[in-house]
Amino acid sequence: MKWPNRPVVAVVGSINMDIVVESSSFPQPGETVMGRSIAYFAGGKGANQAVAAARLGADVRMIGAIGSDNFGSELLAGLKAEGIDTRGVKVTEGASGIASILVSGGENEIVVVPGANGELRPEDVAANASLIEEADIVLVQLEVPQDTVEAALKLAKTYGKKTVLNPAPAGRFPDEWLPLADIVTPNETELAALVGEERLDDPLVLQEATNKLHMRGASRIIVTLGANGAALSLGDGEIARVPGHRVTVVDTTGAGDTFHGALAAAWAGGLELPEALAAAVKASALSVTKEGAQTGMPTLEELSSWMS
Ligand code: ATP
Repeated sequence: MKWPNRPVVAVVGSINMDIVVESSSFPQPGETVMGRSIAYFAGGKGANQAVAAARLGADVRMIGAIGSDNFGSELLAGLKAEGIDTRGVKVTEGASGIASILVSGGENEIVVVPGANGELRPEDVAANASLIEEADIVLVQLEVPQDTVEAALKLAKTYGKKTVLNPAPAGRFPDEWLPLADIVTPNETELAALVGEERLDDPLVLQEATNKLHMRGASRIIVTLGANGAALSLGDGEIARVPGHRVTVVDTTGAGDTFHGALAAAWAGGLELPEALAAAVKASALSVTKEGAQTGMPTLEELSSWMS
């Protein structure tokens, strides 16, 4: 399978090392417990989405920051091994971003330290303007400083590029960003946070929430709905639903990032938005049948040969 066009995607976002420690219990303050295992996984929403798009045949340019520590060089090597253009990844003095994830009895406790991600500046976006100019689509999330995300959206629009704003993790951002995004892509929790609702499990509430976001300036909204797939709202009062694929779930980590990388690759590759959305729902469903975030992301061959 090939996309109609060769997709070129620029991602401006975070690059992290996820450090996963398993133990039989969570320590109380002041307590020490013995752990069972430790594992390291390349992560960060920006890097994950870049990898997902690259696996699906996109030419990906990453704009981000890593530290001068060993994690930084490992993370950079990992991106290069996926064929990602890393000219826009700067190395800052100090620590790379990490997520420290303590897992016990099916629950987890997570501490994220942004490290180098917090050093990604609007000037870094400007310095890598050519990478954005070369791209069809620019993909951003909320794990790097707000002024940097804003600079990326504005520069992308200056060049007339398509933009996808993934408002994750949940949090507020200026409403002036909404018209800069061709698609805003919250999950249910993020959409609820954006419109100040508690929950969105009722279809009518979902419609009301997307309407509120349209009124604030969003043109197209895609809401990811976990096992239920995704919904597309174009602001005409209708919501088109793409049902989720029924799969045997092994690990949902990175499902959202796979979705975004796939959406960007397929849309930049020349599919119409509804078809690109269907491809993203399929790719992300396939990813949850495998362990790990980046390790579970499908290739274009796997996606095209997979029947759910
Ligand atoms: P995460 O934070 O777990 O990476 P998310 O909360 O950002 O994900 P979700 O809406 O949970 O995003 O999932 C993204 C997409 O992944 C969904 O739109 C769906 O296509 C797919 N997906 C997630 N969970 C399942 C599942 N259990 N079965 C099938 N598809 C799933």
